[in-house]
Amino acid sequence: SAGVVDAVARALRQADTVRRLEVRANADTPEDAARARRFGAQGIGLCRTEHMFLGDRRKLVEEMILASGDAERDRALEALLPLQRRDFTGILEAMDGLPVTIRLLDPPLHEFLPDRTELAVRIAAAEAAGNPPDPHDTELLGAVNRMHEENPMLGLRGVRLGLVVPGLVAMQVRAVAEAVVERTRAGGSPQAEIMVPLVGAVEELRLAREEVERVLAEVSEESGVPVRCPVGTMIELPRAALTAGRIAEEAEFFSFGTNDLTQTTWGFSRDDVEAAFFSAYLDKGVFATSPFETIDRTGVGRLVEIAVAEGRAARPGLKIGVCGEHGGDPDSVHFFHTAGLDYVSCSPFRVPVARLEAGRAALEGTDTSDSR
Ligand code: PEP
Ligand code: MG
Repeated sequence: SAGVVDAVARALRQADTVRRLEVRANADTPEDAARARRFGAQGIGLCRTEHMFLGDRRKLVEEMILASGDAERDRALEALLPLQRRDFTGILEAMDGLPVTIRLLDPPLHEFLPDRTELAVRIAAAEAAGNPPDPHDTELLGAVNRMHEENPMLGLRGVRLGLVVPGLVAMQVRAVAEAVVERTRAGGSPQAEIMVPLVGAVEELRLAREEVERVLAEVSEESGVPVRCPVGTMIELPRAALTAGRIAEEAEFFSFGTNDLTQTTWGFSRDDVEAAFFSAYLDKGVFATSPFETIDRTGVGRLVEIAVAEGRAARPGLKIGVCGEHGGDPDSVHFFHTAGLDYVSCSPFRVPVARLEAGRAALEGTDTSDSR
């Protein structure tokens, strides 16, 4: 098996010498970042920040989102800041010298809010036992009911949350900027990038970006360390793809979120891919493979092509990648090469596969893109 390992290593080295696509990884812990690096990742293309708001921090997140006033929300954000800074310092250290694309918070809201059925049951149980319900439970249920959405995946997510919860974007960006300062002072070479999720209109990106730039300037000024982070956006809604020329005016890079782009283009819930009709569709040959696994070239892929062309027409040389699950799928990697992307980003374990496929795509000479 040592022979096999050698052969694989040789194939990977060969692929690396010919491929045009850069291969990054999706990682959101220092451990994953280090693993990705060992597999040959050239940076992090997607650092999701959602998991950083779960566990012990849930309570603070509830306070931040359901706050009854500015003071309560500001207290929660203040408590979250040093925790976020530590998250980012660790990841930037593990990826020192390589780009780390940190995405602003993008949860479907229901994952963060307390379960309202549970709250209602607790209140009813107290009442049934003749006790007054916990006033905190009653207050919480009222707040959760006001925020309730029938379709959280189409609701207060991504940039929408950042624009609606005052101070949230500023807290995250400050944490990134302060982590950059800390790593710079420690002699490191942090390369953080800030990515705005679920943008559908250039105005959303413009508003978020103004806030990002303001905080970066603030931290640069306070620390005396100039913090320069490119600000870019995900392209994961059909409207974003179709208006990519406008969006590129405010974006230093694009990254396709093909999970959401597939969901919103087909109108299939990415959380219900096991639903009855899905396997029936596979059986009946509506599609040969799940469009969530292999890029649907004629639909979602067309939107990718449109966005690449429009984005680069508006901003020549615009850096463009993909960070949906498709970034680690061999057939999709070929498509992204041909579409003229700069990088794919996939799970750390898929990095070697993506490197090999990017090399094969380059050798096959299927690169017909002349848009750069
Ligand atoms: C995507 O939508 O493809 C993406 C990368 O973002 P997430 O999976 O976190 O929604
Ligand atoms: Mg997404």
